[in-house]
Amino acid sequence: MAVGVLALQGSFNEHIAALRKLGVKGVEIRKPEQLQSVKALIIPGGESTTMAKLAEYHNLFPALREFVKTGKPVWGTCAGLIFLANKATGQKIGGQELIGGLDCMVHRNFFGSQLQSFEADLLIPKIVAEEGGPPSFRGVFIRAPGILEVGPEVEVLADLPTPSQKAVNLSPNESQEENAGSENKVIVAVKQGNLLATAFHPELTADTRWHGYFLKMAGGISEDASSSSISQSTK
Ligand code: GLN
Repeated sequence: MAVGVLALQGSFNEHIAALRKLGVKGVEIRKPEQLQSVKALIIPGGESTTMAKLAEYHNLFPALREFVKTGKPVWGTCAGLIFLANKATGQKIGGQELIGGLDCMVHRNFFGSQLQSFEADLLIPKIVAEEGGPPSFRGVFIRAPGILEVGPEVEVLADLPTPSQKAVNLSPNESQEENAGSENKVIVAVKQGNLLATAFHPELTADTRWHGYFLKMAGGISEDASSSSISQSTK
């Protein structure tokens, strides 16, 4: 069975290409019923307000929430992380609909606008323990969210020092309290049961370890999915 990639907007093609590199078929998901044929789901980065509007238009929210609840693995990258969070701040007035399930509070644009996009080396001991490779991962952060608070069930997989200009980036009506819990670090990758979330974009790098890790959460690479592409499982 293949892995679904929500294909409403954003970097879904890049996720499908990363899955293909690992010998797994990625299936574009645009309709609720398409979720029935996949064993796991990736929600890509993009623009979360636009994605939420499209998801609403296609009546996807009930099916997405159900998918999360059934315990099938779901990985949100960037805008996908925002979608999975139980609470989000830094939104336009009125906010936007979220899938929820991940016990955390995200700031939608924690690191600022497009101009403040950046790359950073992240220490990822848990991923290295599972996937091997070098101790750090080059994270690509594009208008990236940050995780301000996490619940007790949430495991932190990577964090970053809070940028010193952060106070300037907060709009005047966002209280400093929202940022108070973060101290000097902001969380950028988490796992909670079947949910994985990253504030950065592994699909935009050649390093497939996050995809490999997620596939392990989904029970590994299945024979049928790997038959249509270059497979590592057949080596
Ligand atoms: N901050 C963006 C949003 O609110 C997400 C950016 C991204 O996915 N690269 O949707």
